[in-house]
Amino acid sequence: MRLLAYIGIGSNLQNPVAQVQEAIAELGAIPDSILIARSSLYGSKPMGAAGQPDYVNAVVAIDTVLSPQALLQALQAIERRQGRERTGEKWGPRVLDLDLLLYGGRVINTAELTVPHPGLHERDFVLVPLEEIAGDINIPGRGTLSAFISRCENHSLRKLVVV
Ligand code: ADP
Ligand code: MG
Repeated sequence: MRLLAYIGIGSNLQNPVAQVQEAIAELGAIPDSILIARSSLYGSKPMGAAGQPDYVNAVVAIDTVLSPQALLQALQAIERRQGRERTGEKWGPRVLDLDLLLYGGRVINTAELTVPHPGLHERDFVLVPLEEIAGDINIPGRGTLSAFISRCENHSLRKLVVV
């Protein structure tokens, strides 16, 4: 069955703007999937350890027939190809982070996958780009996006002008 999946992208190492653009191209090449929409690129302050560089963020929508597990594997393969190393440090700096934010209207709670993504409704750097391409979408089990966007964490989000 075809459905829309939303994927959050973040990078704060090794030319983050280029990393995010490369990731969007790679997301557009996932088998059995079509890139439907992409947000602007945004800059944001890190939420983990202090002293790490600012992040570049974006959100894309893909129409897919892949299972959520297969999609997560495709996302992790892209992270690895772009040199992501898993250090185990929570919210530490990274070349590329791809999070499955929403998978249709589904709620998933397995060992590998929590959908909607647990932090999605709290973070301006996810909610604002998501709203740009999805509007006031329902976040299954939680409510509509607009209910969260006015009271989410502030990471000094700004839209980037990328030439
Ligand atoms: P984080 O994004 O929290 O910094 P990682 O990117 O290293 O951490 O992901 C850690 C694990 O999170 C992955 O191995 C994956 O199994 C799990 N995970 C759970 N839910 C999701 C989701 N919705 N999207 C991406 N990864 C998820
Ligand atoms: Mg992640």
